[in-house]
Order: sequence, then C-alpha cells, then structure tokens
Amino acid sequence: MESNTPQPESPFEEQFRRLREQMVLVQIEERGVRDKRVLQAMRKTPRHLFVPDEYKMLAYRDHPLAIGFEQTISQPYIVAYMTEQLQLAPGDKVLEIGTGSGYQAAVLAELVDQVYSIEIIEPLCRQAQDRLKRLHYDRVSVRCGDGYVGWPEAAPFDAIILTAAPASIPETLVAQLAVNGRMILPVGEERQELVLIEKSADGSLHHHTLLPVRFVPMTGGSHSLPEDGKK
Ligand code: SAH
Repeated sequence: MESNTPQPESPFEEQFRRLREQMVLVQIEERGVRDKRVLQAMRKTPRHLFVPDEYKMLAYRDHPLAIGFEQTISQPYIVAYMTEQLQLAPGDKVLEIGTGSGYQAAVLAELVDQVYSIEIIEPLCRQAQDRLKRLHYDRVSVRCGDGYVGWPEAAPFDAIILTAAPASIPETLVAQLAVNGRMILPVGEERQELVLIEKSADGSLHHHTLLPVRFVPMTGGSHSLPEDGKK
C-alpha cells in the first residue's frame, strides 16, 4: 500500500495491516459505511500505535479500548460512521473536541487539510501531541484546554466532531460552524443519542438524530470564559 506517512518499522506491521483490512471489511464496510475515502483512511491509519502497548494486539477488535484516565478510544465502526456523516472534502477545516489518543484526529487528517483538536486532560493531550508529531501528522494541531470554548481563532469550521458527550448541545460550538457545515456529537447523560446538525446557507440549523450511543461524558464547561475564549 502507498503511504506518505512514514511508519515505524516493526516485524508485526504486515500482520497489523492485514488485521486492519479485515476490520474495515467486516466491522465497517459490511455494516454500511460506503464512502471510499473514509474506508481508505481507516485502512491507512495505524490504530495499534494509538493504544497503550499492552492493548496493541486488541487494537483492531470490534470495541472501544481504555487509554488511561478513565477515557477510551472509540470502537472503529463508530469512528468511521461519524467521519462518513461529516461528508468531508479535501480542503475542509475540521474541529474535534476530545483528542484522547489522537486516533480520530489522525483519521480526519487523511481526509482534510486542517484538523484542530482539543483535549482537556493535560497528560493525554501532551501524549497525543507527541504521538501525532512523531507519526508526522502535520495537519493536526492539538490544544490542551476546555473544548466548550471551541477554537475561536481558527473558526469557522466546515465540520465539528465531539467524541465526548455533553448533556446538551454546546451553542458556542454551533456558532463556530461554517454555513453549509456539519457537526456530529453524542448528546445526553444516561441515555445518549448521536446527533447530526447541518447549518444551511442561510444559517438555519437542521437536526437529525442518528443512533443511540455510549460515550464518556464531556467535562469542563467554562461558562465563565468570554465568548472568544481568551483569558
Ligand atoms: N477521539 C478520541 C476519543 C476520546 S474519548 C480518540 O480517537 O482516541 C473523549 C475525550 O474527550 C477524552 O480524552 C476526554 O478527556 C475528552 N474531553 C472530555 N471533556 C472535554 C472537554 N470539555 N474539552 C476537551 N476534551 C474533553
């Protein structure tokens, strides 16, 4: 397979590549994800390099995995499904809230020019920054902080994805969505739904409820910070 991203050498790389092919076919394509570019991004992104070493062999299984600090890397299918719903084009600028391992950000970086990602847990944030740099994901910028304020200097975004669930839709983030943009997020507390929001050319919003999901809760909520997020 052609790759622009230099991958670390390991005797298991070929095995991981085959596990990845299987993952995409059985867990993702056969369940209805059709977007060729999304499937290719999932085939390319080395998920085993985004999980703790002891879970490397489990990286391509059909479930989320613990990444420390009570957080998880999402199930591969959910990553692919949410990414497909965003209908990304190569020139797009995307904001992710909840960097976690950096895996979703890496998948996004295969599809668009610029990815901005925010992580609230400092050690996870630093780890993701180092990892993405080491793996040469130069299109991803990671900021440590509270995603509720978004990334005002880089707004508006063609797409926004949340990988932690707020209790209700954060209006500050909706405001940072470009016209004709799409935002996908899990919403709710005990019961969560995946919601897709489309902002049309006239700025009006359309909500679609997609499926029941289970994400870690979004923490933070810096309601005291001014709208532009500067301190
Ligand atoms: N997208 C990640 C999955 C992350 S799990 C991946 O591919 O690995 C959700 C992440 O959201 C956690 O790391 C959690 O710390 C983070 N998070 C929760 N609330 C947040 C907030 N207010 N701002 C930024 N990140 C937040």
